Amino acid sequence: MLLLEKPWYPLGSEWFCGQGAAMVALSAKRDWRSIGRAFEQAIGKNGVIQRREELLVYECDGLTSYRQRPAVVVLPQTTAQVAEVVKICDRYQVPFVARGAGTGLSGGALPVEDCVLIVTARMNQILEVDLDNQRVVVQPGVINNWVTQAVSGAGFYYAPDPSSQIICSIGGNVAENSGGVHCLKYGVTTNHVLGLKLVLPDGAIVDVGSKIPEMPGYDLTGVFVGSEGTLGIATEITLRILKAPEAIHVLLADFNSIEAAGQTVSDIISAGIIPGGMEMMDNFSINAVEDVVATNCYPRDATAILLIEVDGLEMEVAANSQRINEICYQNGSRSVRTAIDPQERLMLWKGRKAAFAAMGKISPDYYVQDGVIPRTKLPYVLQQIGALGEKHGYRVANVFHAGDGNLHPLILYDNSIAGQLEQVEALGGDILKLCVEVGGSISGEHGIGADKRCYMPAMFTETDLETMQWVRAVFDPKTLANPGKLFPSPRTCGEAARATQQQFPTVERF
Ligand SMILES: Cc1cc2nc3c(=O)[nH]c(=O)nc-3n(C[C@H](O)[C@H](O)[C@H](O)COP(=O)(O)OP(=O)(O)OC[C@H]3O[C@@H](n4cnc5c(N)ncnc54)[C@H](O)[C@@H]3O)c2cc1C
Repeated sequence: MLLLEKPWYPLGSEWFCGQGAAMVALSAKRDWRSIGRAFEQAIGKNGVIQRREELLVYECDGLTSYRQRPAVVVLPQTTAQVAEVVKICDRYQVPFVARGAGTGLSGGALPVEDCVLIVTARMNQILEVDLDNQRVVVQPGVINNWVTQAVSGAGFYYAPDPSSQIICSIGGNVAENSGGVHCLKYGVTTNHVLGLKLVLPDGAIVDVGSKIPEMPGYDLTGVFVGSEGTLGIATEITLRILKAPEAIHVLLADFNSIEAAGQTVSDIISAGIIPGGMEMMDNFSINAVEDVVATNCYPRDATAILLIEVDGLEMEVAANSQRINEICYQNGSRSVRTAIDPQERLMLWKGRKAAFAAMGKISPDYYVQDGVIPRTKLPYVLQQIGALGEKHGYRVANVFHAGDGNLHPLILYDNSIAGQLEQVEALGGDILKLCVEVGGSISGEHGIGADKRCYMPAMFTETDLETMQWVRAVFDPKTLANPGKLFPSPRTCGEAARATQQQFPTVERF
């Protein structure tokens, strides 16, 4: 490969990609007192947490089955402070993990052993609102929903809306390239991030992208979005905001079969209509949500429901709404309810937004899988997921972004029963393999993190993975930034990770 001919020198690699240095550092005994003091000098005593009981809060993210206590937690407030903290990590060869709100579902913000967790919760300022140019600049700890709240009075909103939007941070959204209900029409996070201020893993501060839409040179903003904390830390984010639509209708259609609901999704898109969002819930989720949230809107005897939001100009919305009605009935829908009034619309969405939480009420634990399939394969794949659930002996509920084929099977289990977690993970793995078999992907929006890295070779060739590692090596030659995430490691994933055992270069910064 051409890259290997460059005059770079390799670094011994126990895991992957220059990780040798980090691993040596990981196994070395560290003087945490001195390191802690250095952090206190850099950002103040009240920004450093080292007491064991206080560290407990940070030992996992939303994937609670993986836990690891960090050695230190730091809470910087500015880019300069993040840079100081990262320089200290570089000096002492300490791995660091960025954490936003900790709602990630793939173990991305899971600490690694003997690491520093850099938490952005105090970086929560909206720095600039530029309505004329439809731009907002925020610190990474700003909560997703705050952006819309800050501009909605002037008739604007921020489109990417994960179901966790009232708690998750923009920094986490950037790192995971998060999606949401409205990403079918408006695109995922990467389509709304124009520029970033970054602290690279040696503490250098760089700006990539800008407020201007088209910048010459490499699209490093695109490289960073979705990099899951492995290329550095985003400390300022320039977002695009959109003008709120003139009209919105939300349709609730119920069906006697998954096939009919799936066909309706395909037919709506084929008719040239791209709804703002198009979500499906199966009978199990409908009943779980009604038991817990009681919207009293979802028919409990429906095999599946579709929630379809249509937005745009008044006349366009009325016409599309009418056409979608017809398509639903042509596919055997039993009823279609159209909500125009904002309160009624909210009520129809309330159940969908609370679906994950509802599972938490009916089962001690649930495991959320996240895969993508071609829309046309929805009926087949949902039927296969049901069969896999039966084979493994677990209940699986399906609540998902049907319009973009992004599945979220929720597997219910009890972690206090020995062996169940491993069985559920095996079932989750079978579901991912199914997604890949039908031409889909192992993640739609939750990222790879610690959870799914062993499945990367199911989607990528050795050369693909190697190329990604070279990109990483340029940003982070010592692999101090969130090691052990995203890429398969030979130690954990065995043979599957052969490509990652290659020697990767360490290079002078740019
Ligand atoms: C109930 C529920 C519903 C959800 N629904 C959705 C959904 O609809 N769509 C969706 O996409 N996700 C969803 N998620 C997953 C999760 O909310 C998203 O992945 C979110 O983007 C994580 O943000 P966070 O602030 O919690 O990040 P964290 O969990 O703290 O971190 C996530 C990753 O980002 C990295 N990171 C954090 N901040 C930075 C930074 N400043 N610079 C560089 N790296 C950073 C971390 O190292 C980690 O790898 C849901 C989660 C829950 C619990």
